[in-house]
Parts: sequence; C-alpha cells; structure tokens
Amino acid sequence: MQEEGLVYTNENCIGCNKCVGVCSAMGACIAHVEGGKAQIAVDSLRCTACGACFGVCAHDARSYHDDTKRFFRDLGRGEPISLLISPALSAEYPELYGRILGTLRHLGAQRMLPVAFGADIYTWATLRYLDAHDRAGFISSRCPVIVSYIEHFHPELLSQMLPIQNPAMCMAIYARKRLRLKEKFAYIGPCIASSFDVQHKGADAYVSYNLTFQSLLKYLRAHGISEESCDEEIGYGLGLSYPAANGLASNLHWFLGDDIFVRVVSGKRKAYRWLDHNADAILGGRLLFSIIDIVNCSDGCLEGTAKESGQNEHDEAFSRLMQCIHAREQLDEEGPWSKRILPKERLALLNARFEGLQLEDYLRTFTDQSAQCQDWEPSHDEADAIYESMHKYDEASRHIDCSACGYDTCADMMRAIYNGFNNSRNCIHYEQAEADRLEKLSLYDELTGVQSHNAYLLATQYGSGFAELGTTFVMADVNGLKRANDTKGHAEGDRLLRTAAQCLAAVFGKNCVYRIGGDEFVAFVQGLSHAAVCARLAETQQSLEEFDVSVAFGTAHAEESATYKTYKTYKALKDEADKVMYKDKLACYARHGWKPRG
Ligand code: SF4
Ligand code: SF4
Ligand code: SF4
Repeated sequence: MQEEGLVYTNENCIGCNKCVGVCSAMGACIAHVEGGKAQIAVDSLRCTACGACFGVCAHDARSYHDDTKRFFRDLGRGEPISLLISPALSAEYPELYGRILGTLRHLGAQRMLPVAFGADIYTWATLRYLDAHDRAGFISSRCPVIVSYIEHFHPELLSQMLPIQNPAMCMAIYARKRLRLKEKFAYIGPCIASSFDVQHKGADAYVSYNLTFQSLLKYLRAHGISEESCDEEIGYGLGLSYPAANGLASNLHWFLGDDIFVRVVSGKRKAYRWLDHNADAILGGRLLFSIIDIVNCSDGCLEGTAKESGQNEHDEAFSRLMQCIHAREQLDEEGPWSKRILPKERLALLNARFEGLQLEDYLRTFTDQSAQCQDWEPSHDEADAIYESMHKYDEASRHIDCSACGYDTCADMMRAIYNGFNNSRNCIHYEQAEADRLEKLSLYDELTGVQSHNAYLLATQYGSGFAELGTTFVMADVNGLKRANDTKGHAEGDRLLRTAAQCLAAVFGKNCVYRIGGDEFVAFVQGLSHAAVCARLAETQQSLEEFDVSVAFGTAHAEESATYKTYKTYKALKDEADKVMYKDKLACYARHGWKPRG
C-alpha cells in the first residue's frame, strides 16, 4: 500500500467505493487491485485533502501525514521552535487548552503566537486590497483546500483569488518581519491541508511543521499532559471568529457595515458544486458579491478535517467561540473591535493599528496545477465501446445510475474508465451480467450445445436426488471416439460427439440431454414408457450408424405401476443404466469387428 502523498489509503480498504462518491476531485480516488483485493487508492497529484473520504469510510482506511513526530524529534534535539496557535484550539479544548500550551512550553517550545492575530492582519489586508481593486467576485484564499481545488480544477478562477496569505501565514510573516523572530514555526490547527503551506527546508521558511489537533493530542495523551499552564502572548480582535464558516464575512461587515455584499459558501460537497456552477458567472462579472467567503468544512475550521473524533459533535465549540467573540466586543472599549462605535470609525482604528505593515509582505501567488489533472472526454464511438465493455448494450442499462460504483451516473463511471480512474469490474451491472454469462457458459457444453456436466450435477443434486417416477434414465456412450481422434484427427472425433448429441436432442428434447464426460451423454426421459424409450433408442442407433456414428445405449427406469412405486436416486439409475450400456457396447464392438479396449 503506497503511503506517498498527504492523504493515502491504508491496508484496511475493502474497496466499498464510498470515498469515490464523496470525492470532489475527479480522479483523486482510483480503483486498483492489490494482492487480489479491489481497493481505492489516492492520487496525490489530484487530492485536495478535503477530508470528505475520512467522514464516510467505515473501515478507517484513509490516513494522512502531518509533522507531529518530526516536530517532537526536533524539539527534543533542542531546536528553537515557536507555535502558531489556531483559535479553534481554545474553542475545542477549553479545559485543556492552557495545559496543552504549558506542556509544549515545558518541552521547549518558545513563543505562543495566536493565529487570531494573523487573522486580524488577514482582515486588514483584505480591506486594503479591496479598497485598491474596484471589482467584484473576489474569492477568499483563507482555506487551503479551496485554494488547492481552484489551482487543480478551476485555474481560470485564479485571477479572481484574493492574493492574501492565510491567517497562519500572516501570523508567521508578522513574527518573522516585525518581531524579527528567527526560530522555526509550527502551526497547531485542525486541518490536514495546512501541510500544503509547510516548507520543510530553508532558514526563511515561514511554517516548518503542521501539527493537527488529532495527532498532537494523541501524542500528548500518550506522553502525558502537564499541570503547568500558559497562554498566547499577543492580544487580538475579531480574528478570533475565523474558525467559523463566516469568519471573514463577519469581520468585513464589522468594518464596512452593510456597504459590502459577501457570499458565504461552505461544505465539502456544496462548496465545489457552487464553484463548478458559478465559475462562468464569476468570470463574467454577473455575481455582484464583493467577495466570496468560501471554505471546505461546513462549520468552518471548527469542523476541521483533522480534529479528534468526538470533538465538537454537539456544537459546544461553536457556542464557546461565540461567547469569546461576544466578550472580545465588550472588552475592546476604545479600539477597532469596540461595539460602541460606527464601522467606519472601527476601520480607521484598524488601519491605525496596522499602520507600519506593508501590504506586499502579506500577498501571495498561486500555482496553476491543472496540467496534472487533465480529463479527457471520449468520442461517441469511444463511449460506446466502453459501455459495451461494461455489458451495457442499450440506453436503459446506460442509465441505471445506481451509484454503487461511487459515481452519480453511469455516464460519469464511463468517463472515469475512459480516463483510467476506474474499471468495469467496479460496476455492479457489469458484475451481474458477467456472473450470468459465466453461469451460462458453465451450464452448457460448448462443443455440442447440450447441457453440461455442471448442469447435470445441479439437476440431480450431485446424484443424490430422487428421479421422478416414470423417468427413464438413458446412458449413451460414443464408441470408438479415441480411435477416431487418433486415426482421423480431433475434427472427426468432434463430429461424432456433435452428431450423437444432436440426435439425442432431436429424439428426446434438448433440455433433457447432458454431456457428462468425454464420450458420455445421459438423458432423463419422461412421458414415455420404458419400452417406448428403448424402441426409440434402437431406431436412433440405426440412424446414427448410417452417419458412421456408433453409440451404445443403456437404460434404467424409475418404476410406477398400478401396484408399486420404486423411488430411485439418479446415482442408482445411472449405475443400473451403465451396466446395460456396457453390454450394448460389447455388442456394438462385435458388430463392427472392433476389439474392446482393455
Ligand atoms: S471508503 Fe474508500 S478507502 Fe474506505 S474502505 Fe471504502 S473504498 Fe476503501
Ligand atoms: S481527501 Fe478529499 S480530495 Fe482527497 S481523496 Fe479524500 S475525498 Fe478525495
Ligand atoms: S450501473 Fe454501474 S456504472 Fe451505472 S451507476 Fe450503477 S455501478 Fe455505476
């Protein structure tokens, strides 16, 4: 199992396809077979680390990498490292929060830097940028999954992205440039995708480690959480509200009042569908929102992709965050977060607070990564060929749309197969059709067209079933088959078998004739007396000999008369018919002047 890439599939995968159904990044979930097991792997070039597959996988088969181990190793070696702390940490762990920081300080972490302060810078930078660029439809860049999705799947929207570093990076840049801190920074947050911002090397790297809540808490719980407590070192304002889905929107309204239209979109499925459907309208200037505050998780970072399971399931973190925001508004009597003054006064105070900052320091660029995510559309003929390989020959079978493969429609699955992301075996319709085909193949003898030995075993319950009363069991053996094969070739041998089978099927009906061995056939005949069956067999034997085909017959009858009934198993009837047939075989050999085989 490959562990490359940020998100990967582990050995628990059973190939249930659920992850395919929720993955918004076409081609990030790829069907493959490992050790004979169907599984769904992750293509790290396409995966945006949205985390949707973690939520639906019932087998705990998706994993991700973060930097927790490397961080503790480096800290243990005495490397100077300061922490960038997401405001979601105090909302998620109100009781443990101070002790988590205290433990990290005890282990050697240096400064405790609040990302809420970085978010205040993000708000300031966004307001400055909007002021200088008079157009609508900017897309917020605060969520790394959204950035990744646009870089991979909607590069045409990159020109609409707000080119501001995200709050954690803003905090790191401020610490590096203004506070002149030289040490490495580790970000503590609830997001797998924050690893996209991590720079593993370089003295100037802003963020060197992504520590997710999940793995950090796992580590600390295993190694002990101290009783010491400490707090963040810089005061902040309503940047505190960024973990909520409307964090940016609420800050913009705080400083601009109703003068700004902000569209808030969130959710692992909704956000991507929204972008897919509205990309043209954004580019065409038909959406009048000044800014689109869009994030991957429906409850914002409070529902982060790497939070511990069981946390925030009852909205407690959200209510705590709201409480803290309310307290902050009451506390800041004179500053930009004062409730008592007008939005434009707050804005003036915000600009004054960050007067010494250079907007350019907090700007970023984006990378078009769509070249590695090209999907191709099949031509009509190519689509047809793929549908046929899925045993879908008509329109109805091409619109079953049952989603068992993970895709919404059969057409999506067909396109996935065309692009190499999936294969027909993951289609339930294909598997059923294939099973029917194999069943047919196994129940009929390919050479003669009569039923096969498998069919005979099923019909007779492997010989142990009781034949219906009045049944005559016919045993037929083609004489001289080996001799024909050896002296005249297999084509002649095949002719003997086909002719014998056709004759029996013509006399007794195709549905009651079985080929049960190389040269052996049986037939179960009903509706005729034993004597009548024997008479027909004698005629059949004669006609076959006219075609140069010699067949020995033997019969056994499941008696039913006015006075008694004889229930016999098929095996018993076969043994009885076999003996009779053997006598007939000797007679046939004598007639032809052949020597019986030893
Ligand atoms: S959801 Fe995906 S990763 Fe999980 S078991 Fe199913 S196929 Fe495997
Ligand atoms: S993390 Fe998201 S993009 Fe990556 S494989 Fe899972 S569902 Fe797809
Ligand atoms: S019929 Fe096959 S291809 Fe169509 S949706 Fe169902 S599983 Fe997918």
